[in-house]
Amino acid sequence: MKKRIGFSVTTGLLLLGLRLGIAEEVRGEVPRPPRFVTAEEWGSQPDPIGDDRRHTPRYVTLHHAGVVWTPDRDPVTFLRNLQAWGKRRPELEPPPRNTYWPDLPYHFLIASDGQIFAGRPVIYEPESNTQYELAGHLGVELMGNFEEQRPSQPQVESAVRLVAWLLAEHGLPVSAISTHAKVAAGQTSCPGRDFARYLEGEPAPFPEWVAQVLQGQTPQIELGPPLEGGPTQVIGTSAAESATEQAVIE
Ligand SMILES: [Zn+2]
Repeated sequence: MKKRIGFSVTTGLLLLGLRLGIAEEVRGEVPRPPRFVTAEEWGSQPDPIGDDRRHTPRYVTLHHAGVVWTPDRDPVTFLRNLQAWGKRRPELEPPPRNTYWPDLPYHFLIASDGQIFAGRPVIYEPESNTQYELAGHLGVELMGNFEEQRPSQPQVESAVRLVAWLLAEHGLPVSAISTHAKVAAGQTSCPGRDFARYLEGEPAPFPEWVAQVLQGQTPQIELGPPLEGGPTQVIGTSAAESATEQAVIE
């Protein structure tokens, strides 16, 4: 009789533990976003990065490329060119921008169609042309120039899901989300006003959307109308769209 009670108490505790464990896991689990392309899959060819560049991620910092994206461009070609250019900076760039970048300056880059490309491995600090403490920042770049064009819906949705996944993977709070302009104050308008708008105000929409993903919800991501004096064209994702835009402009 005693033995039976002992057994059932143990079983009960075990079941309770399992149940708590499962609940914990479900709450903390954020899947890697869809449309993710690993560095190996796109054919990344970085040079080795020194151990002195290793860091512990503490922030997820958002950027735009600062280069107007046209739909005739291929994201993988863009990545290859950026990576090759970084490696050749000592030959191509006058001081003080002549520092050698062995790999892409960002850890993740998001194309206008929402594809997410892995760049520099997250174990290494990023690169920048501005002055701030690079260690601790995970750089997420959206292709395009959001001073002159507007991010696309799939691009922002991918950014939200990617940032949520990164926060979960690295055990970081929603307050770890930042922007280049915030960490390098007065040095840049990156990530551009038509994207930065979602990271400003109280509460700011972007961190709210990320928080919803972390809670297992599906956020209703609604992009606002054009800002006064801001860009009006949404970044294109295909040649067909480009043709339409061209026709409207002409
Ligand atoms: Zn930036």
